[in-house]
Amino acid sequence: MTLPSAGPAAEQWDAAVAAIRALGGAAPIQLICHVSPDGDALGSMLGFALGLRRLGHTRVRATFPGEFSIPTPYSAMPGLDLLVPEADAYPEPDLVLVFDVAAESRLGGLAALVAAAPVSVVLDHHASNTGFGTIRLVDPRAAATSVLAEQLIERLGVPLDTEIAECFYVALATDTGSFKFDATTVAVHELAARLIATGLRPGDISRRIFDTRPFGAMKLAGEVLGRAVLEPAAAGGRGLVWTYATLADLARHDQPPYVLDTLIDPVRSVAEADVTVLVKQVSEGEWAVSLRSKGAVDVSRLAISQGGGGHRLAAGFTGYGEPGDVVDTVRRLLDDYLN
Ligand code: AMP
Ligand code: MN
Ligand code: MN
Repeated sequence: MTLPSAGPAAEQWDAAVAAIRALGGAAPIQLICHVSPDGDALGSMLGFALGLRRLGHTRVRATFPGEFSIPTPYSAMPGLDLLVPEADAYPEPDLVLVFDVAAESRLGGLAALVAAAPVSVVLDHHASNTGFGTIRLVDPRAAATSVLAEQLIERLGVPLDTEIAECFYVALATDTGSFKFDATTVAVHELAARLIATGLRPGDISRRIFDTRPFGAMKLAGEVLGRAVLEPAAAGGRGLVWTYATLADLARHDQPPYVLDTLIDPVRSVAEADVTVLVKQVSEGEWAVSLRSKGAVDVSRLAISQGGGGHRLAAGFTGYGEPGDVVDTVRRLLDDYLN
């Protein structure tokens, strides 16, 4: 068995600190996170952007590719004033920092900007990270990208304040499933403690990001969960549970796509299945596929084979055709994987 590689090497940390210290206060700095940003993507990026402002940098912009809409749970996050649509990114930044991006495909049209930048610092925690960027702060053992962002902030000598801490806390709470997943180590709780000590109210934050949704999103969830299929014999007898949601489902309940992001959680709680698949329509014939395992299957290997990525127990890829075609593909991948 290959052990997960250790965290970023000292030279990478030093290079990242030096790259930032080398910049004048008016140098344009562009921060980028992945398409359809989640709490970790936005939180690690905006927390770091605020840290750069505290260092005296005046030209700091944050962005992500694709439609410029912020999921409502994150619409009160500090630092949102630094966020701009993709079209308003600095065309020639002196430095690019990339957050929570496993593969360049998750950068959409901004991949060219990253490739052209004189220096690009990549902060990420996906084991499947494809290795782009000139300075790489990638640690597959980190519970969230915000763990790396917080370490870099500290190395730059920026003290945590409530705003930076709230961004990093949202990121950490989202990617650990509220401090439930395997990566929730002593160090994660120690970081959470440091963040809360700045004056955060974890109850308020959790209610806002996990426990608040429109009535229509709840009704939509009811339909999507109601059509779930359990296949106990699939995945070599370990069981597969799957369901899907279409754009028509979203339209019928007048809901934006992000409301589907957390729907995998009630599905993956099914006791009779190790593997969970949620197939979410992106456009005609194109689907964002979420995969989860309780431990028997490294779903990131399945996702990578389809051009996607992720973590051992949580991964995703883009699928094509009808939901049934996508699930056929997953069944086949599982058979190959388990044989
Ligand atoms: P999700 O199912 O969207 O919550 O994603 C689970 C994990 O897989 C996250 O760490 C994502 O960053 C990663 N992931 C999802 N879709 C893709 C994709 N198309 N390419 C690369 N990584 C992905
Ligand atoms: Mn993410
Ligand atoms: Mn993440």
